[in-house]
Amino acid sequence: MSDCIFCKIAEHEIPATVVYEDDLVIAFDDLNPQAPVHTLVIPKAHHENIIDGVPAETLAAMTHAVAEVARIKGLDEGFRVISNKGEAAGQTVMHFHLHVLGGKRWERALSKGCSRRLRFCAVHRDRVHAMIETYV
Ligand code: 5GP
Ligand code: ZN
Repeated sequence: MSDCIFCKIAEHEIPATVVYEDDLVIAFDDLNPQAPVHTLVIPKAHHENIIDGVPAETLAAMTHAVAEVARIKGLDEGFRVISNKGEAAGQTVMHFHLHVLGGKRWERALSKGCSRRLRFCAVHRDRVHAMIETYV
């Protein structure tokens, strides 16, 4: 697509810090990193999001690229892979991409507003107290 910024990166028309590339996909560092490692994996062909008819071969190539990014960036301890679909989910670039995030620890997986252990978290403590008051 002519007006798509990620298509332009895939075509090397716009510069990016490329981490990995093959015939089907390209991986490059995010301009506004949300973790010490924040790399985007995109298909070279334009698909709007993860459910926009992406061929199985391309999805497999993207999974391979995630593994290559993890290896190249030394993410041996673990990493997150996130894909936003649609504005409500926070998608801002309408060309399918996987965010690969790593180089730090997340104490809890996708918890609701709490990254601390339950016994130290005032938000969870108050919720638990409210539940006890409701049911007891
Ligand atoms: P989304 O919000 O759509 O899930 O993620 C889009 C991501 O693309 C954001 O994290 C944003 O920082 C990144 N981004 C937007 N424009 C550019 C660009 O021109 N170059 C690079 N490297 N990243 C970009
Ligand atoms: Zn595109």
